[in-house]
Amino acid sequence: MSFLSVRDLRVHFPTVDGIVKATDGLSFDLEKGKTLGIVGESGSGKSVSTSAILGLHRHTNAVVSGEILLDGVDLLKISDEDMRRRRGRDIAMIFQDPLSSMHPYYRVGNQIAEAYRVHHDVSRKAARARAIEMLDRVGIPQPDRRVDDYPHQFSGGMRQRAMIAMALINNPSLLIADEPTTALDVTVQAQILDLLQDLQRDFDAAVMIITHDLGVVAEMAHDVLVMYGGRCVEYGSTKEILTHPEMPYTWGLLSSIPEVDADPEAKLVPIPGNPPSLLSPPSGCHFHPRCAYRERVPGDLCRTVTPELTPGSRGDGHLKRCHLANPEIVYEQEVLPQIAPDLVEER
Ligand code: SF4
Repeated sequence: MSFLSVRDLRVHFPTVDGIVKATDGLSFDLEKGKTLGIVGESGSGKSVSTSAILGLHRHTNAVVSGEILLDGVDLLKISDEDMRRRRGRDIAMIFQDPLSSMHPYYRVGNQIAEAYRVHHDVSRKAARARAIEMLDRVGIPQPDRRVDDYPHQFSGGMRQRAMIAMALINNPSLLIADEPTTALDVTVQAQILDLLQDLQRDFDAAVMIITHDLGVVAEMAHDVLVMYGGRCVEYGSTKEILTHPEMPYTWGLLSSIPEVDADPEAKLVPIPGNPPSLLSPPSGCHFHPRCAYRERVPGDLCRTVTPELTPGSRGDGHLKRCHLANPEIVYEQEVLPQIAPDLVEER
């Protein structure tokens, strides 16, 4: 069994207008030492799904079902106290904006040391020493001095490093990073992604990285899960998804990755339309109102029948949720020349 095994996870919110199906039948596996990228637009169900892993929907009106097996233990079945103990110790989280998750009036070092003391019976002095050690490990210069700074005295990149130190101080086996670099400029973003990769090797944690940006996934993840409307619509190794994607929504995400050396005047191709309502999603394939390829599928199938997750044309664990016949040929002959003409010449 995998270290983390999520099976048919559903997170539904009953409202006066009906049921919001934020996550609707999500399954995946993740091993220690591996990184899974979960990609999709806002409202695709990425963050709701990871919040369920952290047990953050307990005592809300969310109805959560399925299985979340971490090292064989179903996190949906354990007590609140057990979940609290595991959160921060076995499972840690890095958020997009450290300013909103670090207390502005407490010194950075104290906050990191407290995260350690919650799970370890050690003196303040020992916890402070451990905090300095972690600040050093994440690349904060002069950590023995900076440990006494307040969050506002750190730059954005340094705050993100401090948050990573806080998340890793208890040596968690599962690390969830939710848009960890979105608020940072491109250079700092690359440094933070490098740091995360480095630390993963040292700590041998399983890492989930939640992002709307396939570029981040290309840097970090071994496997990719693309979410749309609360469901997985494509899954596979990062290499496979980046080079042989077979679902039109993934094609749209790929065409909206900004290239570092691109002509600044060049326009990205956004996916037309808006993400689906999770309260009353479109019938059939949730993506059909925005899909340029639905007319290729005969019998109005895209509008009337929900596609199942089926193996991609090259096998190897690749799964896609789409009725389109021969998507690999459509991608090679029609999509790739539009989004990456240089690559077509290289192939
Ligand atoms: Fe487009 Fe139809 Fe495939 Fe959905 S099932 S992505 S609408 S071609």
